[in-house]
Amino acid sequence: MKVEEKVALLAIKQGTESHIAVDESSCGTCESQICLRACPAELYTLEGGVVIVDHSGCLECGTCMIVCPLGAITWRYPDAGNGIRYRYG
Ligand code: SF4
Repeated sequence: MKVEEKVALLAIKQGTESHIAVDESSCGTCESQICLRACPAELYTLEGGVVIVDHSGCLECGTCMIVCPLGAITWRYPDAGNGIRYRYG
């Protein structure tokens, strides 16, 4: 089974509040902005020079928090009952 087919099996229940916070003031000084490339779900975008994250569709891998060289990303699991449900793996 291809990765795209496995991702299509995921179920995500969205909470009202984002479980990811980005410190925009720190992002402005970041040269790599690696979060834009590291997120497997491609949830990070650059809008007007500001890093924006759309928490919907988050795979809860934690990669963004780990790769940020400035510690500008605060990540936690979604509130109980929300978030991703992995099936078949
Ligand atoms: Fe993307 Fe993973 Fe961070 Fe979610 S936890 S925003 S999927 S890198």
